[in-house]
Amino acid sequence: MRWGNKPYYSLDYFLREKFGEKVMKITLDGGFTCPNRDGKISFGGCTFCSSRGSGEFAGDRLKSIHDQFKDQKEMMKKKWKSNKYIAYFQAYTNTYASTDYLKKLYDEALSEENVVGISIGTRPDCLSDEVLDLLSYYNEKTFLMVELGLQTSNDKTGELINRGHDSKCFKEGVQKLRERNINVITHVILGLPHETEEDMINTVKFANSLDIQGIKYHLLYIIKNTKLHKDYLKDPSIYNLSMEKYIEILGEAISLTNPKIVIHRITGDAKREDIIEPLWSIKKWEVLNSIHSYLDQNNLYQGKLFNRNL
Ligand code: SF4
Repeated sequence: MRWGNKPYYSLDYFLREKFGEKVMKITLDGGFTCPNRDGKISFGGCTFCSSRGSGEFAGDRLKSIHDQFKDQKEMMKKKWKSNKYIAYFQAYTNTYASTDYLKKLYDEALSEENVVGISIGTRPDCLSDEVLDLLSYYNEKTFLMVELGLQTSNDKTGELINRGHDSKCFKEGVQKLRERNINVITHVILGLPHETEEDMINTVKFANSLDIQGIKYHLLYIIKNTKLHKDYLKDPSIYNLSMEKYIEILGEAISLTNPKIVIHRITGDAKREDIIEPLWSIKKWEVLNSIHSYLDQNNLYQGKLFNRNL
């Protein structure tokens, strides 16, 4: 089973089908913070989260949305040709502000030329009724995706990484969005400290048991100056995922994924100069090529084992 030249339903394939051409994501920083950092839920945030609120490639938060667009388009022009864009509010928690501020920001992004949709990264506990009403409004108006961080369905690991919500809360967040017919994208991290292969596969199965429309498989990065970096310095054994093992687990994850769910990512993304581990991930193209070869050599494709989820 293939989607274009890939054995999984990639975001690129989905967007080309939906919009008739390549669509690029413009990654934005809307100047938000996060309740898991500012003390509302906890201080310090998720242990893996960088000082940029996991928005390493987002625009400059000191600039307007318009200027961030300009900068990012300029950068992308050198690599890809594209005339359509999705505004991606990535850094920190992008529904954690007054609805007036949210509306102003989302409208600014939508008013940019050739923007065909918005993607909003947030937490499942930051979906008040007012926020949900606002999201419903944008869901009518444009193509909307809301991205929620699950990372793991193992709540013990959730506590260890200071995620600040549990999988029940995540499930409720998905339900609230789906009651309004809003597309939900789930983030999963493979390789979290002390997680076994079974934990990771359980997370994949859990995510697939929910009504989600997209999934991002990230590999755990230990980024300089994060809490996780400190944990790693105390005990380097918390990171022990080799590239071969990551690819093997990812192969199973992809096989278990519902073929109707769009796979947005199969690795993570971090700035080379900030990566402490895994150093093997620095050669991103080599990793991607190895993943694709592994899937082909083992005749693995998305949905091959999906029925095992049931
Ligand atoms: S919820 Fe997101 S922004 Fe907040 S601490 Fe966790 S990863 Fe960072």
